[in-house]
Amino acid sequence: MLGQPAAVGKPANRALTCHRELGGIWCQNFSMSAERQRDLFKARPLHTPFQAYSAQTQKGAAVQKIESQTSAEAPDPDVTLILPAAPIATPTHGGRAKCLQRLVRLDLPVPCTVALSFRTVLRIAHGSLPGMATILQHFDDDALLCVRPSSEDPDWGGPGAILNIGMNDARYAALSETLGSEAATNLYLRFIKSYAIHVARLDPDLFDSIADDGRQALAQALLTYEEEAEEPFPQTPARQLAEVLRSMARAWEGTTARLLRQAKGAPVDAGLGLVVQEMALGLGNGECGSGVLQLVNSETGALQITGRYLSQSQGRDALQRGAASLFLERDPRGPSLEELAPEAFAQLKAHAALMRKRLRAEMQIEFTIENGQLHILDGVRVRRSSRASVRIAVGLAQDGIITPQEALLRVEPRALSELLHRQIAEDAPRDVIGKGIAASPGAATGRMVFSAADAQSSAARGEACVLVRRETSPEDIRGMHAASAVVTERGGITSHAAVIGRGIGLPCVVGASRMKFHLRRKMLVSEDGRSFREGDIITIDGTKGEILAGAPQMVEPLLDDSFQTLMAWADAERDIGVRANADTPADAQTARNFMAQGIGLCRTEHMFFEPGRLTVMREMIFADDAEDRRAALELLLPMQRADFKELFTIMRGQPVCIRLFDPPLHEFLPTDRAGLRDLAEALDLPVSDVTRRVEAMGEYNPMLGMRGVRLGITVPEIYDMQARAIFEATIETSRDGDPVVPEIMIPLVSAKREVEIVRARIDAVASAVRSERGVDFTYRLGVMAETPRACLRAHEIVQHAHFLSFGTNDLTQMTYGLSRDDAGRFMSDYVHQGVFPEDPFHRLDTDGVGELLRIGAERARAGRPHVTLSICGEHGGDPESIAFCRAAGFDYVSCSPFRVPLARLAAAQLAVRDKIE
Ligand code: PEP
Ligand code: MG
Repeated sequence: MLGQPAAVGKPANRALTCHRELGGIWCQNFSMSAERQRDLFKARPLHTPFQAYSAQTQKGAAVQKIESQTSAEAPDPDVTLILPAAPIATPTHGGRAKCLQRLVRLDLPVPCTVALSFRTVLRIAHGSLPGMATILQHFDDDALLCVRPSSEDPDWGGPGAILNIGMNDARYAALSETLGSEAATNLYLRFIKSYAIHVARLDPDLFDSIADDGRQALAQALLTYEEEAEEPFPQTPARQLAEVLRSMARAWEGTTARLLRQAKGAPVDAGLGLVVQEMALGLGNGECGSGVLQLVNSETGALQITGRYLSQSQGRDALQRGAASLFLERDPRGPSLEELAPEAFAQLKAHAALMRKRLRAEMQIEFTIENGQLHILDGVRVRRSSRASVRIAVGLAQDGIITPQEALLRVEPRALSELLHRQIAEDAPRDVIGKGIAASPGAATGRMVFSAADAQSSAARGEACVLVRRETSPEDIRGMHAASAVVTERGGITSHAAVIGRGIGLPCVVGASRMKFHLRRKMLVSEDGRSFREGDIITIDGTKGEILAGAPQMVEPLLDDSFQTLMAWADAERDIGVRANADTPADAQTARNFMAQGIGLCRTEHMFFEPGRLTVMREMIFADDAEDRRAALELLLPMQRADFKELFTIMRGQPVCIRLFDPPLHEFLPTDRAGLRDLAEALDLPVSDVTRRVEAMGEYNPMLGMRGVRLGITVPEIYDMQARAIFEATIETSRDGDPVVPEIMIPLVSAKREVEIVRARIDAVASAVRSERGVDFTYRLGVMAETPRACLRAHEIVQHAHFLSFGTNDLTQMTYGLSRDDAGRFMSDYVHQGVFPEDPFHRLDTDGVGELLRIGAERARAGRPHVTLSICGEHGGDPESIAFCRAAGFDYVSCSPFRVPLARLAAAQLAVRDKIE
């Protein structure tokens, strides 16, 4: 006993009292028949590795029982002693239980462990406990136990482990004799505290304020428990264990836990298993302690023994900040386990190497040394950064432990985008001030500016800035290039800011409409009401869609050899092409660096956003007659020709698909007074005239108005100029290298006749250029299928097209009747309330829009069997959407340059899975 029972006011007969209580409450649980008990041991072969270990360590009362059981019936999968042949599987018992079974099979020194299935734990949560004797019979009567969660995927989390179950006054007295008073006190105190806080759910402050060692502290903890719980601290292992199991099972069913794991991808009905394990104490005589070891660095994935060991400790104490922990391997920075206990360390290293090889994964091992003897308590997959996940997978394959195909499956495609961009460090504190749509990945910090001009001034001063806009337009392009990140109040995943952001690798959050954007006052008000002004430092996390105050710590992007190796393996496996959407030479270079197989979409209108060009473009739009227009177009021609020459040169040997001019013309017109004045000056017209013309060109619904091929039909000179620029660039680039075969794509087609008319003019331009230059060339003409009608009439439209590329941004907009620029306002409500499972501009709606794609593809192939089919909307970079395109028989997907690696990996995974299944 504690020696001072009177002083702490504890009843002298407390243990007895508890036993009496238990007799009434819990004894029903002890009524398992001998036959039933035998069932549990049925499948155990004699002399298993487990037995060898148990015999060697004198642990596990189960061993003797195993040897004496010979029943032929199946073991109970619900409460199962973890033996090599026990019926344990990850989907029924969780990853931890399965891993422990594998360790047992490897003959590693794992203490006796019982696994409780998901089904059992669910029943416990609903009030139906298994008999405690069913569990306890496997352990020595005086064993201390711990319980740990075992969910199907360790990333889904679970309640924390509870150690030292079974500690009571009697065990305390006995252990004080054998291990010494200090060790016994620590064991008991630790258990009381964690039981009080996590099981009895008493106020943590009351127990956190009690010291972590000493008999005084122990007495105080017992007294506090008794006062708060209004009962003495439970004394029987059966009651303690039952309460621990119940509290862990209920914690898993709680709403917060459920939401947290669902956010990590767990299904609604994800189960929890529990493992009950005999403790190897880590406290007591001889060298005792606990630690954690892994063979790789979690941040980089490089091979490096990592972890700590702490004498006289339990659980993960060694990892606690400020603990006097030892390094594992000899280390110039301080003492190590290797020096302290060379034999145990050598064994540990050997076990870790065996686990890596046989479990075919990098594992983190929790171990205990008890009086010099090593015990392996647990193994979980090493937590890893995205960067480490690539290096680990490639490393395992290069060491012949897994195949390159398996390595491909082990890296989450979306994780790759983290490698390509700066990210906020995982453990950095985040002061989130607003949320929106994660439109372009990566993170960046800067001072807030509220106009493109201010962004450029910031850049000129060498000062990083974040551009804050209601939404962006072509006029903001220069500001976007100058900014480190962009945040907009409006817009969705395919809005201007989002598309440009992804194209140039600029972190971007759009549709942050729950914040208040006071652009005139140059002020941003956070969702919780805090005001931020121009010049204040904020951070945009375009990967998570969050706006943060201040400058959290960042992690730099890194493309190392492992990344390149993985990508090469991906390319060897995948069977669908991956191109990039690239509008500028810089985009094209990025696409080339990421090994895109060509450009699938060059949005030519983006080429006119450059300074100097915008004015000429405006002059062209304002031209009074065809003659004036031709004069402006003549100025634009050499610019376009130079653009295309540069693209063809960068992408040499690969296809470049150029989309003819698409957007509503008025998008190129100024919207503010300064812009109107500039244009008036350039045109030598009064501002009032210009203003009137701009207003006259306005449309009620510009996205369905004068844009795309409709411009090509009504103002054909624009397409003529573009075709000429393409052909002249083709001739000039082919002169000093392989012939270039350009692809020309007509946007927003809805009728066969549109294609006929445009095709006739482009053919005429081609003939003219051929005869003027005396040089022959070929080109491919294609149609962008982005209206529902184009899909439905694909068989006839395709008669005039070599290829059909589905523009799923507009197709989604038109299929849903949902403005792609305004969807951000209500999309999060729609997704939250389950109206849409996901933002359809982000993940392809395979039911509705997908139906149109399927129809379009089938009809196109029926009309022209060898037509090339592809997708060039933003969905081209989304793994699930790529799966759809591959299944529908598309030839390639085209996505933003920075998403190309992700698409290559996602496509490879689909091919590998097909081969396996
Ligand atoms: C589309 O509509 O899917 C597309 C790629 O074109 P844009 O986004 O330029 O309209
Ligand atoms: Mg479109």
